Amino acid sequence: MSGEIGLLWLVDADPPSEAPGGRGFYPANGRTDPPDERVMVERLNTAARLIAAEAGGRAVVTIHTSPRHREHLFAEPYAGIWQGLRDAGTDLALHPHEERLDGRTHYGNLAHMRGVVEETMEAGRRIGIDFTVFRSGGFAFHDALPALLAQAGIRLDCSAAPGHVDASRDIAWPDREEIVLDAGEQTIVEVPLGWNGEGTDLSRDYLFNERQDLDGLKRVWDAIRQRFDAGLAPPVVNFLTHGFGLVAEGWRDQALRFLDHARRNGARLISAAEAEAIVLAHWARQQEPTPC
Ligand SMILES: [Zn+2]
Repeated sequence: MSGEIGLLWLVDADPPSEAPGGRGFYPANGRTDPPDERVMVERLNTAARLIAAEAGGRAVVTIHTSPRHREHLFAEPYAGIWQGLRDAGTDLALHPHEERLDGRTHYGNLAHMRGVVEETMEAGRRIGIDFTVFRSGGFAFHDALPALLAQAGIRLDCSAAPGHVDASRDIAWPDREEIVLDAGEQTIVEVPLGWNGEGTDLSRDYLFNERQDLDGLKRVWDAIRQRFDAGLAPPVVNFLTHGFGLVAEGWRDQALRFLDHARRNGARLISAAEAEAIVLAHWARQQEPTPC
């Protein structure tokens, strides 16, 4: 098997935080003040400019919600920025960072998650954004979440980091790529973080821009390509970048050079709708009985 692999460029546009790392930092200090607008607008405008120039608009940008910033990102000036991205063909993903004060998450609390999803889907509709894409905060998830998301109208998820497990943060992805999540009567297409199929170190084994160096990203891509040619890797993967990275010269250059490397080696940058179509066609072929 040989051919193109769909590459979904993911921009996680979380607001800045006073605390480093990601262990429950959003609500940890009890603050509820809005993000630094100057910083956020620079990040989002930079992402929009790069996505237009490098990918013709094809990317997914996350809209953050969290106990600290439940409504801030659905107000101006952000509403206008999201609308501009949408009009440029960029997909927007609902992105709840539901960390708790103790560093764990609310992802196992389905009543909480249902409330967050319903509330923020409605907040999106009020500014003209109909979410069909989801990305969890920090790779957290729950087996019952796909059904809840499907009911809300989500069709595609970008939360998975295959093999990554951290029970303290509700992360438990199997060490294989799942391209379709069981959502009861429906399914949700999964576009996992690009993975080399070997280890589970976010700084070595995945397409995670701000945790890797360029050679590392290239090695992961080349492994994905080899696994795809052997029928092991999925037909679409995501490349995770962050708003804070795209405004930093080193990480920005690295992301663009990686995209260049991937495109010269079998990648095609795709939209969420293209990812969905590719995965569903691939999945349907896998369901066909093997001739004997
Ligand atoms: Zn995030």
